[in-house]
Amino acid sequence: MSSWKLGPVSEFNVLGFPVKHSWSPLLHNAALKALGRSETYGALEVPPEELSEALDWLKEEGMIGVNLTVPHKECGFQLANTADAVSRKLRAINTLRLQDKTAINTDVPGFQDSLDILGVNPTGRSLVLGAGGAAKAVIYALNESGWQIDLWNRTQERAQTLRAELGVELKLVQKFQAKNYTLIVNCTSSSILDQDLPIDWTDVSKETLAYDLMYGIHPSSFMIAARSAGANATDGREMLIAQAARSLAWWLDCEVPIQVMRDGLP
Ligand code: NDP
Repeated sequence: MSSWKLGPVSEFNVLGFPVKHSWSPLLHNAALKALGRSETYGALEVPPEELSEALDWLKEEGMIGVNLTVPHKECGFQLANTADAVSRKLRAINTLRLQDKTAINTDVPGFQDSLDILGVNPTGRSLVLGAGGAAKAVIYALNESGWQIDLWNRTQERAQTLRAELGVELKLVQKFQAKNYTLIVNCTSSSILDQDLPIDWTDVSKETLAYDLMYGIHPSSFMIAARSAGANATDGREMLIAQAARSLAWWLDCEVPIQVMRDGLP
């Protein structure tokens, strides 16, 4: 039997493969408790080929909603009955209501919220590193907020495909200097893999924010390199909090205590 069916199941869950690293249960359970709710939020490791079965099973069990993380966001979109405009544009979802299989994508507004919280305004150029699912959401959000965007990806063809899919004005770059950007968003998996990126940090200043989407207890090598060279740096926790807050508010149709969620993290 699939391991996701074995334990007691929560009303809300994040589904990923792997999923152990996720801080979503911490955030959501802190908020649910503060709201005086009886529901809980868990994490289920679901292999890609079992996503459809897992969603049907959770629905039959009477559960309420799921967040989808890597690698389920695109497949989740295909399985949803209806999805909001952002999800349709990205062909990816991260939030699903199980009973009617209605979906939204809170990664895009969540990233925009995080820039507001961090006090980052669209001045100067932004550079996105990576061309996977997270980069797509970030580029969509930056474009909506009026940023000029450069894109670097290890595999050039993937960057070209992303530009064609999104239809956004993007300059593809192969070499770059960090000092030319107000905002550099690391949307690669390099930090998870603990691998360095080919970034020239020469003459960078505090005017540049190096924003790593990865989150964790320790700063990533990308953040450490940026700070050592004189830039500002942050990890992905504010985006994580903001997209989670938007998901929970949508499921429960109420305001959620964002500071409680933030305080729930290590
Ligand atoms: P994908 O697998 O879709 O994309 C991975 C990207 O990383 C590709 O562009 C790939 O390049 C690149 N890459 C992988 N390894 C390296 C390397 N060693 N050097 C350079 N580039 C590399 O992943 P996602 O887009 O879904 O996620 C990316 C990151 O964003 C993860 O760290 C994830 O945790 C984080 N994230 C954080 C969120 C938050 O709320 N804070 C939300 C969503 C994601 P190539 O095309 O060449 O293979």
